[in-house]
Amino acid sequence: MKYKNFPMVPKVVFGRGCFSQLDEILMPKRKSDEAPFIFLVDGVFENDNWILSRIPLLFNDQIIFIPTDEEPKTDQVDALVEKIRQDATQMPSGIIGIGGGTVMDIAKAVSIMLTSQGSSADYQGWDLVKNEAIYHVGIPTISGTGAEVSRTTVLTGPDKKLGINSDYTPFDQVVLDPELTKGVPKDQWFYTGMDCYIHCIESLNGTYLNAFSQSYGEKAQELCDEVFYKGNLTTEEAQDKLMMASWHGGMSIAYSQVGVAHAMSYGLSYLLGTKHGIGNCIVFDHLEEFYPEGVAQFKKMKEKHGIVLPTGLCANLTDADFDTMINVSMGMDPLWENACGKNWKDTITPEKLRSLYEKM
Ligand code: NAD
Ligand code: ZN
Repeated sequence: MKYKNFPMVPKVVFGRGCFSQLDEILMPKRKSDEAPFIFLVDGVFENDNWILSRIPLLFNDQIIFIPTDEEPKTDQVDALVEKIRQDATQMPSGIIGIGGGTVMDIAKAVSIMLTSQGSSADYQGWDLVKNEAIYHVGIPTISGTGAEVSRTTVLTGPDKKLGINSDYTPFDQVVLDPELTKGVPKDQWFYTGMDCYIHCIESLNGTYLNAFSQSYGEKAQELCDEVFYKGNLTTEEAQDKLMMASWHGGMSIAYSQVGVAHAMSYGLSYLLGTKHGIGNCIVFDHLEEFYPEGVAQFKKMKEKHGIVLPTGLCANLTDADFDTMINVSMGMDPLWENACGKNWKDTITPEKLRSLYEKM
């Protein structure tokens, strides 16, 4: 047995308002006047002076707003890298991603691709990146995905949706300022928060479970329970705790895997473009047979917050559409193996997945 030696985020600052320290955090990392910092910022903040006024722009630094109605694509990453190469006379000093999982993943991918040849699609997979990325910083503005701690950046490419999993993917610095999440709309708060909850359930009920993953998964689940179910928290406490839940949930899957909800929501995402948070919720709602307690608790949380999930997503799909989703989903071997064991193919058949998708 060979154990994986994981890199972790080496520097993290936590605290309400710590975003204001960004200038002092970045200062020592500036290589020269000609080597800019590139800030990739969620388009939702385009007119938000509370955020923008604290982005410490100097010299040729740039803010590039990133639309988040679609999840990251390999050609989008390639185009950004091309633009940054054209605009700057020198390699940038760093890439700073300010936003949710979408923007953080784009920031990771761009920082990798600035030092690698070819298309980002060439690096989707495990340990295909050979060159160190440039300095990159992650600043979450919504909590749940764990993208701030993870070793992957999930991209949809010409023929697959798969992460660039590599030792160079994790951020060099993360800024955890729970105040930044104050404007998140309620439904989105729930969907992305549930991504974290589902990470915990899938990790804690998986065959890959070990004490490392369990310790983080249990803590994250406890925090999610406080935030989404037990209540009695102030808004500030809930923001603080969900940000730490996301961190722990991400750490939990670093050393294990996600499971059925993620495997099936990848299928929805690939065919229909359903976004990660809401897609996981739509799938997870129908997974009682795999995760009885987790799904029961999920339904209670959904009820408590008055969340109504869309239905009928698969109502008008063709046989070919179902086959596409089923193929994408069944291609996620490690997720199924984690969820159902080495012999997962005995129970997880195309017919089984079709019957589940038909409910959604
Ligand atoms: P997101 O980044 O797409 O953001 C969701 C919505 O919330 C967007 O409309 C965004 O504009 C808005 N938003 C974010 N912060 C806000 C704020 N403070 N105020 C108002 N609106 C705000 O969603 P997400 O759920 O964070 O991320 C999903 C993405 O993360 C997917 O692409 C998924 O593949 C990826 N992901 C990556 C990992 C990883 O380990 N790398 C893990 C899980 C998910
Ligand atoms: Zn997830």
